[in-house]
Amino acid sequence: MTQHALMSAEIHIDRAQGAYLYKKDGTAILDAISSWWVITHGHCHPKIVSAVQEQAAKLEQVIFAGFTHDPAEELTEKLMKLTNPAHEFVFYSDSGSTAIEVALKMAIGYHEHTGKPRHKVIALEGGYHGDTFGAMSTGARGVFNKLYEPFLFETVHIPVPTPDQEETALSTLEDLLAREGDNIAAFIFEPLVQGAAGMVMYSPESLQKMAAMCQAHGVLLIADEVMTGFGRTGALFACEKAGITPDLVALSKGITGGFLPMGATLCTRDIYMAFYKKDRTKTFFHSTSFTGNALACAAAKASLEIWENEDVMARIAMIDETHKKAVQRFETRDDISAVRHQGTLFALDVQVDGTQGYLSQLGPKLYEAVLSQNILLRPIGNTIYVLPPYCITADELESIYACIESSIARVL
Ligand code: PMP
Repeated sequence: MTQHALMSAEIHIDRAQGAYLYKKDGTAILDAISSWWVITHGHCHPKIVSAVQEQAAKLEQVIFAGFTHDPAEELTEKLMKLTNPAHEFVFYSDSGSTAIEVALKMAIGYHEHTGKPRHKVIALEGGYHGDTFGAMSTGARGVFNKLYEPFLFETVHIPVPTPDQEETALSTLEDLLAREGDNIAAFIFEPLVQGAAGMVMYSPESLQKMAAMCQAHGVLLIADEVMTGFGRTGALFACEKAGITPDLVALSKGITGGFLPMGATLCTRDIYMAFYKKDRTKTFFHSTSFTGNALACAAAKASLEIWENEDVMARIAMIDETHKKAVQRFETRDDISAVRHQGTLFALDVQVDGTQGYLSQLGPKLYEAVLSQNILLRPIGNTIYVLPPYCITADELESIYACIESSIARVL
């Protein structure tokens, strides 16, 4: 995602604490995007640091096929308590993309093994699900993956049910399901917020309607909560806000508090049972060397304990409230449009002439202008967003909004 021929030198980070990254000379940079949406409680949270240190001295990694260990068992128990009770099983991998690959393979395998093979997947226009080939296939056919298009499997992309096109989105889905619902294996979506598309938001009600339509046709629901999971939208998981129960959920990023890489694919008993046969050819064939890595499990378990023992939701509510006020402050400006927020996420679009979207020249300029004030934001084209770690204070949020104002003025 970095064009080295155009970018200035990388910034060398020496250490991190709370909401800050520190350069070797001691300069602090406020991490207003949680280091690509992964850090939840804050950098180097002492409880996660000591859990990983303790685990590292005992067991770092062991094959997870036919073997298990306490950190994995204890993490799973905690995860099952926090997530929808319909999800009784979990498959661990090592990133958001692999969690998605696993979900897609489970969905396709489910239909195969239950005797009704289905060959298509539905996704939302503009979606992003990762950069492996299955994930790219379901993602938007845009600048990120255009080059690889001939190698991607066919996916039917339908409009996102944003308020301006909700009816079109719902009727497109309805027609599609009426025509070929029995050949559609799954519907994959980022619930409520499409992150990489530029923080595109849609309502819980429209997601609920789409989910019900798919379920009526036996189309499995794959919720990609890689970005939205672990509090970003104000609820622990975005699907909770829509009151839907997907068949499969992909988690990553915030699961370890952002401390170590880990992916998790949750599934229902029905899906598990489709592969649970005396016939070895029906095995869920997916090996990933570091599945259930003991250090990642220990980090995730410690992170979930922070959710259990500290009032993380109060921190999230403070960010939510502060963002809500910021929306009022920005929405009166005529050089800005679509000022929006959802839980801990705040976003706006800067009015721009010329190239639109990800390749808008405004993005890199805004990035530099903000960074010169020691704040890390990474605009997506002309969309600026704030997605902070939950330890951030109201004063720090204020400094981010002020920096956005001055940076827009400078760049425009
Ligand atoms: N799904 C979503 C919604 C994402 O935002 C991302 C990463 N930004 C991914 C999947 C892929 O995750 P990873 O980069 O860990 O492979």
